[in-house]
Amino acid sequence: MAATSIHPSVDQGVKPSAKDFAGGTLTCKCTQNPVEITVRAQSAHNHVCGCTKCWKPKGALFSMVAVVPRDKLSVSKNAHKLAVVDPKATIQRYACKECGVHMYGRIENDKHPFHGLDFIHTELSKQPGWSAPEFAAFVSSIIESGADPTRMGAVRGRLRELGLEPYDCLSPALMDVIATHTYKQAHARA
Ligand SMILES: [Zn+2]
Ligand SMILES: [Zn+2]
Repeated sequence: MAATSIHPSVDQGVKPSAKDFAGGTLTCKCTQNPVEITVRAQSAHNHVCGCTKCWKPKGALFSMVAVVPRDKLSVSKNAHKLAVVDPKATIQRYACKECGVHMYGRIENDKHPFHGLDFIHTELSKQPGWSAPEFAAFVSSIIESGADPTRMGAVRGRLRELGLEPYDCLSPALMDVIATHTYKQAHARA
């Protein structure tokens, strides 16, 4: 039986990060005048995500998403083709109007724990060496996108086999970041 497919970038095994990798370019799927994003930093917290909001390549159960400092990201080509997918969402996801690929996501609320970080899909880059995915977030949410609930055991088993510990929210490290931020905001002195 074929292994459960998670995402094309990890199905053959997770590719390691390159030491001293300092960024690269991401391009959308348009064959003409693609949108190009330049990132001048290594990515962090790369993971596969089962939520219904992250962009996934066709047929994939999960997306793969990482963060970079927002001041290290710029739109270098065809910015006019970008539009925000859902202006009311916490993360403003900028997608190509022609091919639909999400190029980056940005949080404008400066009280949000992840403010200052942009979300990117490193698979859109031809350069190898981006930080490797470390875990799987929002695994149960793939059911909301139509995945068969009876397959969840196989999905979680395959994630563990790939070294991507499955969680049904974010990883403990990131949940701790959010909780610490919430505590600090609640106890901040004016
Ligand atoms: Zn495009
Ligand atoms: Zn997601």
